[in-house]
Amino acid sequence: MRDDPKERAALGRAANAIAPADGIARRRADFPILARTVNDRPLVYLDNGATSQKPQCVIDAEAHYYAHLNANVHRGVHRLSQEATDAYEAARDIARDFINAAQREEIVFVRGTTEAINLVANSFGARFRAGDEILITGMEHHSNIVPWQLACERSGAVLKVVPVDDSGELDAAAFESLLSPRTRIVGLTHVSNALGTINPVRELIALAHARGVPVLLDGAQAVPHLAIDVQALDCDFYAFSGHKLYGPTGTGVLYGRRALLEAMPPWQGGGDMIRQVSFARTTYNDLPYRFEAGTPNIAGAIALGEAMRYVRDLGLDAIAAHESALLRDATERARAFPGLRLIGTAREKAAILSFVLQDVHAHDVGSILDHEGVAVRTGHHCAMPLMERFGVAATVRASFALYNTHEDVAALFAALDKVREVFGDA
Ligand SMILES: *Cc1c(COP(=O)(O)O)cnc(C)c1O
Repeated sequence: MRDDPKERAALGRAANAIAPADGIARRRADFPILARTVNDRPLVYLDNGATSQKPQCVIDAEAHYYAHLNANVHRGVHRLSQEATDAYEAARDIARDFINAAQREEIVFVRGTTEAINLVANSFGARFRAGDEILITGMEHHSNIVPWQLACERSGAVLKVVPVDDSGELDAAAFESLLSPRTRIVGLTHVSNALGTINPVRELIALAHARGVPVLLDGAQAVPHLAIDVQALDCDFYAFSGHKLYGPTGTGVLYGRRALLEAMPPWQGGGDMIRQVSFARTTYNDLPYRFEAGTPNIAGAIALGEAMRYVRDLGLDAIAAHESALLRDATERARAFPGLRLIGTAREKAAILSFVLQDVHAHDVGSILDHEGVAVRTGHHCAMPLMERFGVAATVRASFALYNTHEDVAALFAALDKVREVFGDA
């Protein structure tokens, strides 16, 4: 019965019908997966920090490419190849506009944030020498730690780490004092995936630039929640993933300041990144193609463009206002909940609520929540050093998206009441 698609759609319409008709959250009807049930309950999806759901227009854009345009890009003179190339390059223009990059050549399509940072750590990092320093922070995702550690192993450079205070904010004075004449790059998360902290990146970038140090921002958790203007931020690199931005998996963008990209050697070699190949010597293609070796995720990039258009049309300010209201609601309930400790209480936060319950393992909390149809992330959130900093092995993380409602917040805390019933009042 539950597997009957008609039944499922009807249940979904019912779930959507009881959702309040307040502004942005009304758009939850655009997301077909929100119509399904889990354990006979309407799905309450609060794991958006891990990946967000996709609106029908994004699903349609990907399918439309395969049904109508499929051909390789930048290669054929035939009609399909030209149309596929046009659609792929149009997605690049949408991405340029989405983060207000100055030029389309500064937009490199990649598999995601992880690949973007690896690209910079390998290519920009080719100039690192023994004794050089790479400055990151104590709240980085593993994908903004490990690529730099690998660069250190290759070059003899040293990793320096800015400490995080008890509220989950960076120590700006420590940041400044850790910038040295040997610092070659700063890798900094715009928004922490585990704490929700929005870092004061504009100020930190100004401090780094005052010493001539370029800054890479990890924007994986920022782009779904904040309007991004890479020129106003004055960052040198900006990395993000499509799948956390209502787009497909295996897509993402690396923004790089043109002068820096021009001076960087290719990272991967292959088709599309070359101008001329002979066994004696190969010359490389122009930006951004020099950094897009091989056949890219064409359908994915096109669908990512559609996701950006969708978000842009809704307006990031409206999305941010809606999510802030959800976060306020959730934070108030969390503060009143017995035995709950919030991990991450920074003054500026995106809609991420990380916490632990006294005497109950995060994994057990997650299992009971799942039984109630509430999807959250439990674990170290790919930020093990940060968990260690707060003296916990794992947290429960509820992370919100544009389609979440105050009913979802209420469902989360009703499910947490169940956890307390099962484990007793600890
Ligand atoms: C998810 C995430 C990443 C890694 O993104 P992928 O899509 O897995 O490449 C990096 N940094 C932060 C802050 C993230 O949240």
